[in-house]
Amino acid sequence: MGEQGRGVGGHHPSTKKITGPLLRPSADRIRNIAIIAHIDHGKSTLADRLIQICGGLTNREMRDQVLDSMELERERGITIKAQTVTLHYKARDGHTYILNFMDTPGHVDFSYEVSRSLSACEGAILLVDSSQGVEAQTLANTYTAVELGVEVLPVLNKIDLPQAEPARVQAEIEDLIGLPAGDCLPISAKNGEGINALLETLVHRIPPPKGRRAAPLQALIVDSWFNAYTGVISLVRVVNGEVNQGDRIIVASKGAAYKAEELGTFTPKKHPQPGLAAGEIGYVSASIKDIQGAPVGDSLIGDTKTRPLPGLRKIQPRIFAGFFPVDSGRFPALRDALDRLSLNDASLTRQPINSSALGAGFRLGLLGLLHLDIVRARLEREYQLDILTTTPDVAYRAHLKNGARVEIDAPDKMPAKSELVSIEEPIANVTLLTAPKYLGAVLHLCQEYRGRQRSIKHHTTQVTVEYELPLGELMVNFFDRLNAVTSGYASMDYRLGGYKPVKLVKMDILINGRAVDALARLTYADRAPGLGRAYVEKLKTIIPRQLFAVALQAAIGSKIIARATVSALRKNVTAKCYGGDVTRKRKLLDKQRRGKKRMKVIGNVEVPPEAFVTLLTDDLT
Ligand code: GDP
Ligand code: MG
Repeated sequence: MGEQGRGVGGHHPSTKKITGPLLRPSADRIRNIAIIAHIDHGKSTLADRLIQICGGLTNREMRDQVLDSMELERERGITIKAQTVTLHYKARDGHTYILNFMDTPGHVDFSYEVSRSLSACEGAILLVDSSQGVEAQTLANTYTAVELGVEVLPVLNKIDLPQAEPARVQAEIEDLIGLPAGDCLPISAKNGEGINALLETLVHRIPPPKGRRAAPLQALIVDSWFNAYTGVISLVRVVNGEVNQGDRIIVASKGAAYKAEELGTFTPKKHPQPGLAAGEIGYVSASIKDIQGAPVGDSLIGDTKTRPLPGLRKIQPRIFAGFFPVDSGRFPALRDALDRLSLNDASLTRQPINSSALGAGFRLGLLGLLHLDIVRARLEREYQLDILTTTPDVAYRAHLKNGARVEIDAPDKMPAKSELVSIEEPIANVTLLTAPKYLGAVLHLCQEYRGRQRSIKHHTTQVTVEYELPLGELMVNFFDRLNAVTSGYASMDYRLGGYKPVKLVKMDILINGRAVDALARLTYADRAPGLGRAYVEKLKTIIPRQLFAVALQAAIGSKIIARATVSALRKNVTAKCYGGDVTRKRKLLDKQRRGKKRMKVIGNVEVPPEAFVTLLTDDLT
């Protein structure tokens, strides 16, 4: 659910045999174009205008950000998944061109989606908000496009705004990105100004796809999603050869053969076609009932002798967190939901885990906190699962006395002190863009986050700051703090760098001497005492008094770093909740009350299951 076509077309099984000329549009008349930009610079709005001008939808079907089909995308006003639309444009040279546009997400967590779309395109529109200017994602996305050999066309958006400064922003594009911007097109995605000129320019500036149609079939799977009726549907870019209805196709890495049942393009509604040929982007459905049957980055080929395509750049998760169903009986539902989600989210990794406190769950590898939040929200909305997540960690690296090197991406993976030589933490190479007047505040913040300055470059109106920051620090709330100290006038991007030594400890939380696995944390040694105190104080407010005193302790190894006591009293003290996301917490608590009322027994202490909801949803840092 939640993928392309759901919003306006839906995926109904089509049994109709498509007849018509098997002649596919000439590759010379195809242009494949990704739309890239920093978040909010107007990609989805531009896609709307293009669809409207090229007649992809009737006025009645049109609505704002029509390609953002997920409920979550519409609500938050952000694009999460790359979406595609095929449009016809009659150019001034009298020819009709097929333009495939891919709208992409702008947030750093979803940069994988961007590189995936770019892998299917020859060109990219680099959209820059002329009332804002070049931002960190503008730079990052341009570099990715250039690395992939994609032709980048800078375009100035929002020129209708009174505060637009096209001349300044044009200078920034040349100065900061190094793209020649002399002929930068000014447009307004909102009122349509300049869009026709843009379409003409695209036809002339973006090269047509190169593939050979007479060659054996090679198609790149750019996206896949699952439909209960038709099985897996994949968005593909045909690189060589062609695929027609009824053809035998093979998913290269699996070796499994299927019959191509339905092919077509998105207008953005599903529009069936007799086939797809080299250069085209469209969908293929082949009754693939195995959810993992057509993974993103894989190739479709016609026979096993054909070599698969190089595929997509592999992505490494940045953070890891435990996901547990609040109702432990729903573990199988969580497993199935994750199967489906990971089908078109290649960046999501998972490993089954077991917690004595929370039951069976998964340790997920994710790209950042927004990604975590989106995955949890999708599980809750699209699969009706209530999820408890543990505090995320980055993957540390430990060197052991026996010479081995192990990854520590969860507290329980911390090696015993006696085996340990040293631990290193992952470093992020961060690029920040801000106005000169916020430079001091930005540098101060980076220092506070234990950063190491690499460079400061002054441009006409902006400053670029490069820093090395511990990835774990960056992931906590660096971005919120950056926004706060610059009133939103800063943007950032990062790439993974190397590793550096770190003083890392595993802090255990003990209830009457028993460690509670779900509450263990990895933390910097100098932060452990404060964090430990916060935990035991919070626990004290939620553990009901028992017939005996309950000792609450935070410990590193055998050393106690904080303690509190729930004194003995036979009285039912109701749990109190403070802080955190109150509505979400209340919902989770209600859910649990309706479920089994069973107390978790830790040692000889009865702990209400709500305790975990409260502790894990509160921000204890
Ligand atoms: P995206 O994050 O890049 O997809 O950006 P959106 O297309 O969602 O647009 C972000 C905001 O900018 C929305 O409120 C749009 O209405 C607005 N916007 C987009 N293009 C223009 C434009 O040309 N002029 C004006 N005034 N607003 C625009
Ligand atoms: Mg968007």
